Amino acid sequence: MKEKEINTILKGIAAAPGIEIAKAYIYAKEKEEISNENITDIDEAIKNLDLALAQSKKELKKIFSLAVDKLGEKRAAIFEAQMMILDDPVLVSTLKKRIENEMRMPEFIVDTEISKYTHLMSLANEAYMKERSHDIEDIKNRIIRNLKKKKWRSKIVNDVIVVTANLSPSDTVLFSRANVKGYVTDFGGLTSHAAILARSLDVPAVVGLHDAMSKIHENDNLIIDGYKGVVIINPDAKFLNEYQKKIDKIHNYDEELNKLKDLPAVTIDGRIIRLEANLDLAEELEYIIHNCAKGIGLVRTEQLFQNSEAFPDEEEQFASYKDIADKIYPDYVTIRTFDIGGDKVLPVDLKEPNPFLGWRGVRILLDSKELFKTQIRAILRSSYHKNVRMMIPMITSLEEVRECQKLIDECKKELNEEGKPYDKHIQIGLMIEIPSAAAMAKEFAEESDFLSIGTNDLIQYTLAVDRGNEIVSKLYQEFHPAVVRFIYQIITEGKKAGKQVSLCGEMGADPFAVPLLVGLGLESLSASASVLPHIKKVIRSISYSEAKELGEKCLQLKTETEINAELHAYYNKKVQDQIKNLY
Ligand code: PEP
Ligand code: MG
Repeated sequence: MKEKEINTILKGIAAAPGIEIAKAYIYAKEKEEISNENITDIDEAIKNLDLALAQSKKELKKIFSLAVDKLGEKRAAIFEAQMMILDDPVLVSTLKKRIENEMRMPEFIVDTEISKYTHLMSLANEAYMKERSHDIEDIKNRIIRNLKKKKWRSKIVNDVIVVTANLSPSDTVLFSRANVKGYVTDFGGLTSHAAILARSLDVPAVVGLHDAMSKIHENDNLIIDGYKGVVIINPDAKFLNEYQKKIDKIHNYDEELNKLKDLPAVTIDGRIIRLEANLDLAEELEYIIHNCAKGIGLVRTEQLFQNSEAFPDEEEQFASYKDIADKIYPDYVTIRTFDIGGDKVLPVDLKEPNPFLGWRGVRILLDSKELFKTQIRAILRSSYHKNVRMMIPMITSLEEVRECQKLIDECKKELNEEGKPYDKHIQIGLMIEIPSAAAMAKEFAEESDFLSIGTNDLIQYTLAVDRGNEIVSKLYQEFHPAVVRFIYQIITEGKKAGKQVSLCGEMGADPFAVPLLVGLGLESLSASASVLPHIKKVIRSISYSEAKELGEKCLQLKTETEINAELHAYYNKKVQDQIKNLY
């Protein structure tokens, strides 16, 4: 039993700003509950077992055939081995005999029988055997899930702060529908997709706390401070008072920002910066329009369909993209093709040793041409009002760019033949988020219509630091000189080629980074809608000529510490922001 904590302060990573006071909801991702009740109808139970085995086999077959293409026969063999287990006559007949003899729920029999093997294997010294025990565990869970004929869903909770070990992007979205007040996690980093989603949803988040699950009880009163990355358990009246004052200050500042709503994002000396919004959830659209974004600079399409069981077909995608394009018209929307893989959902249940360096983004799309072409056609069709642009993620080489272009041309030709309208001059842009692309920004700009800098991945890949891993979060430095120089190079080369350069990573949401980005020449950025009013305030407080000097100075500095200090000093001097001391 954990002890009740009073006034305990936990420190983690500030992942999404905001302060809230609410009760804790402990979200432990439990395994499927296994019922060991007695049964009366043995035939029915055996029939259910057969159906679950067949369904599991069907799923594994699909995974296997995709894995053979991608991983080669050798590594795909693990799925083949899993399928063979499902066919193993000894196992199947043991399961059936036990159901007959013990007259218990098939899920209980499957659990106990297969666990015998996994238990023995997990005791082995050999890493290989241990690993295989996870495979068998997977199979067991798959059969049990199919026996229960269900997909896992989270419980609905209202007005609470969710406390959990790890949050997946889909958990974040599911909980947001229940008006969650905050997210507190033991693992995860600043640019994990769950953290980005929390920012999009305007819900404070503190991640990477390590001991939140062991210290916080269900229904504990919590203060979450998403500016400082702090969580206070069962605060006393003094803390509550202090934080209530901060909450009031935030509300006042929000009102002040609201007054800037209809004013342009322009520097004191007249340089206009285009502020667009990132869209992760269809529900955000109204909020984006309300926050006066000048369009949508990034639609993470893979997030739009998070909760679909299968990949959406062309009509479903078309309807969804068309809806966004219609509502944002006459402004532009930039629709990014699926960036699946990494920490985002994959089309198959595939476990990769290094998912961020593996089968992700355009790599999957180019390997799964039907899937890619379905999406290209849907995006093209949604472009008939001429306010849609298409963008490709995770590009590393010009060969990939050309292959994408070829498929886009093929789709255009098909649509022409079918007489379906689309924008014949639709712009095709590239995400610059991998060092190879940054180094070749010139050529990438020449072979596309626009570039968008994905700083979340650019930082991760430039510095070799996993964006979602709290253990190395200190090394994830957006102001590392190499990152700053890459950004400058991309902007400069893009402009030389006469192409628009935007930035859609989370760096654009950092108020301290904005003067630097403007100074490096950026004229367009896209960020979570909730931060745009604050970013506009920063832009309206600075002058381009000074920001340019700041940029030039930072390009000369040699360490992140120096650049960070320079940017904080500049911000504090120029921006009158009432919530500055909350950060
Ligand atoms: C990025 O990498 O900066 C980006 C905007 O894309 P995502 O966060 O979806 O990887
Ligand atoms: Mg990215």
